[in-house]
Amino acid sequence: MFGQGIAKGLWVTFRHFFNTYVDDIRYAGRKYLRQDNFSVRQGLQTQGAYTVQYPDEKLAVPERFRFVPFLVTEDQDPARMGEDWCTSCGICAKVCPPQCIWIVRGSDPVTKRPVPQPEAFFIDIDICMNCGFCAEFCPFDAIKMDHDYELASYDRTMHHIHDKEHLSKPLSYWKNIAPTTALEEAIDRGGWEHTDVLKTMKKAGQTATPPTKENMYPQHAPVLTEAVAEPVAEAVAAPVEAAPAKVEHPKATQGTEAKPTGEKKKFDKQAMLEKIRQRKTDK
Ligand code: SF4
Ligand code: SF4
Repeated sequence: MFGQGIAKGLWVTFRHFFNTYVDDIRYAGRKYLRQDNFSVRQGLQTQGAYTVQYPDEKLAVPERFRFVPFLVTEDQDPARMGEDWCTSCGICAKVCPPQCIWIVRGSDPVTKRPVPQPEAFFIDIDICMNCGFCAEFCPFDAIKMDHDYELASYDRTMHHIHDKEHLSKPLSYWKNIAPTTALEEAIDRGGWEHTDVLKTMKKAGQTATPPTKENMYPQHAPVLTEAVAEPVAEAVAAPVEAAPAKVEHPKATQGTEAKPTGEKKKFDKQAMLEKIRQRKTDK
């Protein structure tokens, strides 16, 4: 019949309009006044339309949501507390399509030999296109895609070049924002520990505890909310310029070119940031 589709469409619109008020009465104050009722408002029970009062209210993002990458640091093993999971292998910098990752490999302060740790790590988040390739290709599960999307600032030159201090977040943070993926990765690795630690354990004839949902948060780790909230808040609050001065480093290069030459050269963070900024301007 002519006009039947229009009538159906209008009926759907009217039903949502009407149900918005029904929902408001049904959940009354608890729907809008309590943060934990967001799940109700976003769930199947909600039938009407509602407005999210951003930034006072925020919708939860799905676990697979990805924004800019962050670097995983150890906060579970007391012997390796605060250590980077990144081994400075440079694979992420090599696969990054817009080439927005810069890595400086660390070196032993005494022997000057390279060590599997990044001395500096930069990501230009203006150029990053959130593809997640770096996280996919990292053989050590050391770089992950974050859920924090509120990164806007008034400075688009230096503030968006995130350094290692800014990028680093604890393993418990990753377990918290992506529990399913974190568990799958740990099962693939064969334990909650870093790949290198698991290899060492294997050589020593030790067996890692099989990863399960129940042992995701070991007893010696701080309470989850503290472990996650404080380091993240500090990391986000730290401006790029406020990073501590760096020590001697043989060579500063991009990505897989970060092979040490033995040549003693002072790593100048400001010069490196200026180089990245210049490249950004040229583009
Ligand atoms: S691929 Fe992983 S381990 Fe290698 S440099 Fe990138 S973050 Fe570090
Ligand atoms: S998410 Fe993609 S664009 Fe961004 S740093 Fe990783 S590889 Fe590069």
